[in-house]
Amino acid sequence: MIRQTSLLVLLFASISLYGQRTPIDSSLRMDWEMYDPPSTLVVPEHPQSSASIPFVDVHSHHWRMGEQDLDVLIRQMDSLNMGVVVNLSGRGGQALKGMMDNINSSGYQNRIICFTNIELRSIDADDWLENTLAQLEYDVSIGARGLKIYKSQGMFHTDSSGVRVAINDPRLDPIWAKCGELGIPVLIHSADPPSFWEPHDENNERWLELKLRPRRQRGADDPAPWATIMDEAFDIFRRHSNTKFISAHMAWHANDLVRLGEILDEIPNMYVEIGAVIAELGRQPRMANRFFEQYQDRVLFGKDSYRPGEYATYFRVLESADEYFPYYKRYHAFWRMYGLDLPDDILAKLYYRNALQVIPGLDASLFPE
Ligand SMILES: [Zn+2]
Repeated sequence: MIRQTSLLVLLFASISLYGQRTPIDSSLRMDWEMYDPPSTLVVPEHPQSSASIPFVDVHSHHWRMGEQDLDVLIRQMDSLNMGVVVNLSGRGGQALKGMMDNINSSGYQNRIICFTNIELRSIDADDWLENTLAQLEYDVSIGARGLKIYKSQGMFHTDSSGVRVAINDPRLDPIWAKCGELGIPVLIHSADPPSFWEPHDENNERWLELKLRPRRQRGADDPAPWATIMDEAFDIFRRHSNTKFISAHMAWHANDLVRLGEILDEIPNMYVEIGAVIAELGRQPRMANRFFEQYQDRVLFGKDSYRPGEYATYFRVLESADEYFPYYKRYHAFWRMYGLDLPDDILAKLYYRNALQVIPGLDASLFPE
């Protein structure tokens, strides 16, 4: 009791002391965006511009692959130690054919893989299903190794009556089943970071991103709650257990790895890739290490936007034991990160072994035994 009373006295004393303080000089107020001092911490640093072992990037976009000079791409890949790149923007049909022709005539069919895409806007046309299944078969016959579904396709695409086509719409079931039959995985990007659905205020970790990219802001139900959109994807994973699904961006659960583990436990045909969420892993190196230990067979390497200079940050987070280093986009992460120092066997699974299991026809001879 005496202790509590003295604590209270101390509390009031400090409050009144605070009250008497001279107000902060307004010239010392600073914009939060401006406050970004260089770190004074002196610790060993191990930046690396290439991966220590070859890797597969399962999440990349190369829109002009039909025309582009692939020698340039291959030289960049070599400098990163990237064994295989997966271009998710294959588009399908004749566009995909053009890309495959360029890849084949350049002799890079073992280094560059394409996934195809389908269109959902005409889902209620009489011949949509027949045409889409025929397109999938054709695309696989000319070399597509997977299907990519864009986030817009689960959020903004509507049918002829103007209703949003949820990705677990039963009319799409034959597509997922077909991918299973054809032995190709479906990489699906659902929703966006959950912060985009939260109020744009001082409690939002993506405040800066929503300021710089205001169109990313969603209302709570726009076009549906975040959890609803994610659950629509998990629903198809559950119902199509013969098809392998790769949920992009760690299913936007990289900030809640316990929950992500529960989802992976429940859905054995689901995999995730780490594109655009490396800063989430880098801010929780111990937790992330436990996650990679437990789910080492379920996580693939992905990057999303293809910018060769940005891979170094991925290598450093995954491979080094460095401390307190920055991410390259402050609007994704205003915090600093720590290396995970992943064990070699787990790194090999993340970098290529799991991809060899999930994506058909990869050239295993490009990678260590
Ligand atoms: Zn993407």
